Amino acid sequence: MSPAAAKIKTESTVNETPSLVIETRGLKKTYFGKINVPVLHGLDIKIYAREFVAIIGQSGSGKSTLLNILGALDVPTGGKVFVNGTDISLLDEDELAQLRSEEVGFIFQGHFLLNEFSCLENALMPITIRHGEADEEQRLRVLKLLERVGLSDQTNKFPDEMSGGQNQRCAIVRSLANAPKIILADEPTGNLDSRSGEEVFQLMREMNRESGVAFVMITHDDRLAQEADRILLIEDGNIFEISKEEHRERIAKII
Ligand code: ADP
Ligand code: MG
Repeated sequence: MSPAAAKIKTESTVNETPSLVIETRGLKKTYFGKINVPVLHGLDIKIYAREFVAIIGQSGSGKSTLLNILGALDVPTGGKVFVNGTDISLLDEDELAQLRSEEVGFIFQGHFLLNEFSCLENALMPITIRHGEADEEQRLRVLKLLERVGLSDQTNKFPDEMSGGQNQRCAIVRSLANAPKIILADEPTGNLDSRSGEEVFQLMREMNRESGVAFVMITHDDRLAQEADRILLIEDGNIFEISKEEHRERIAKII
């Protein structure tokens, strides 16, 4: 690249404000029951396009609660959530269904593939649910993604005929089926042995770099958190960004 071109590139990168894909303002959640459980005390979060963010925190600290609210699977008891600039509390059921299937992709710890459907059918599920049937272009796109994650020879297999890692790779493709801008992943490597976990993580990281889809990934695996762009820690109902350095120090203290 010529120095002039490099300068223009640098300047345009500097001037570009990265767009927010998720923002929360004063997000609160209390579970009401015989005993009220206050979980999230007013979180302000910003997730930008193309980021890979790890969320860490002790078991029971509210990580899944937060992710479910970000994906409109649960409602907050206070504060606001904006997804791609839209205040999601203003959406009706139909618009929420559209948001869950087209703007946000989900990957869970137990992959939740449907046992009675093949790998390809599972991967196509978000399209099938939304549009009735996948057209040729959508089918080819999903087949290409399956090839990308190394499942070309598994497309007709059923979930119980594939390994845990293969199931989770299929779930990654499923989360990408409608080409969302954001993927929310709740301990996606939690059930896998460390080698398959690393493979699944690297695939998500590659998808993030190749297609620019932002990832918010809850993880207990400190090595994987170290490989994210940013680390957010949930503690005592609040959320903090911690540097990789601080995170390493925390791990060293625990060990
Ligand atoms: P994490 O994913 O960090 O382990 P969760 O978000 O699952 O934590 O849970 C946070 C807290 O909220 C825990 O104390 C849990 O027991 C409580 N909790 C989660 N879901 C519910 C629910 N549906 N009703 C009541 N309490 C809940
Ligand atoms: Mg959880």
